[in-house]
Amino acid sequence: MASRLRGRVAEKVRELAQRGISPRLEVVLVGDDPASKVYVGAKAKACQEVGIRSATRVLPGEIGAEELDTLIHTLNADPDVDGILLQLPLPRHLDSRAFLDRIAPEKDVDGFHPANVGLLHQGRPRFVPCTPAGIVFLLDEAGVVLEGARAVVVGRSEIVGKPMAALLLARHATVTVCHSRTRELDAVCREADVLVAAIGRPATITAACVRPGAVVIDVGVNRVSDPELLERLYPGDEARRSQLAKRGYTLVGDVDFTAVREVAAALTPVPGGVGPLTIAALLDNTVRAAQQRRGL
Ligand code: NDP
Repeated sequence: MASRLRGRVAEKVRELAQRGISPRLEVVLVGDDPASKVYVGAKAKACQEVGIRSATRVLPGEIGAEELDTLIHTLNADPDVDGILLQLPLPRHLDSRAFLDRIAPEKDVDGFHPANVGLLHQGRPRFVPCTPAGIVFLLDEAGVVLEGARAVVVGRSEIVGKPMAALLLARHATVTVCHSRTRELDAVCREADVLVAAIGRPATITAACVRPGAVVIDVGVNRVSDPELLERLYPGDEARRSQLAKRGYTLVGDVDFTAVREVAAALTPVPGGVGPLTIAALLDNTVRAAQQRRGL
């Protein structure tokens, strides 16, 4: 599905090329967080594959607020830049929200600027945050009916949970949002026809949380380095076991995959589920930015 979305983006890039337009994404990476480096690398590679120009600005972790501010200002003012992505998390001394607020809304391909958040919640989206956008694409491609469906989103972050809920609501689902203080999480989740888990804790969604026949989207990306926990979650999974031995960890989602797959009608894997769609949605947003900035 992600490759289908990338294919559509590549087609749009070719159309723009015929008009002499070549979309350009600038990624800003502050510090040397290993996971962020991997994500940024994957984004750059994906851009290249569909013909989007991209550059990654790597700034030292100890950079001051003024320097980062200046860079964002420069990218905002550069007419050749269509999209700006500030890779999160930022080092502790930098206030992410303040810098996200400074990115020009028409170049905010992550959809985190308050103006874009507002437009999304008013039902006239400009840039939708990439992970929920990718998930809606996935649900559509899979033929999942959202209108009238009961949807439960576990997690209320600005990046995933809240925009996910807004998108499902816009598609006429009946939406419940859960978080760390939700009482009787299992029972609330069991109401869901479509369950989205964006928690950041391994295997929080057990089989007891899932109504038979539900569609389950696992957004979580968690490192597991305990071989016993891994064996409990993925019994006899040699590939994961050898990855843990080699790298010291393996990635698992928020859903107890082995147990939930027996109950759910459909379930996304981690890795290889929502992640590739998130990147494809970023490419799509970048091309949209290139089009919208030129009134196309
Ligand atoms: P946040 O930490 O910002 O939000 C986590 C949410 O989960 C919070 O709302 C929190 O509640 C809630 N939560 C925590 N523990 C529980 C619990 N025991 N029961 C119910 N709710 C709980 O995370 P993000 O939204 O940024 O990311 C969530 C996960 O998705 C992470 O693993 C992240 O790595 C992954 N991710 C994956 C992406 C992809 O492309 N595949 C993209 C983005 C994120 P409260 O608000 O009360 O604290």
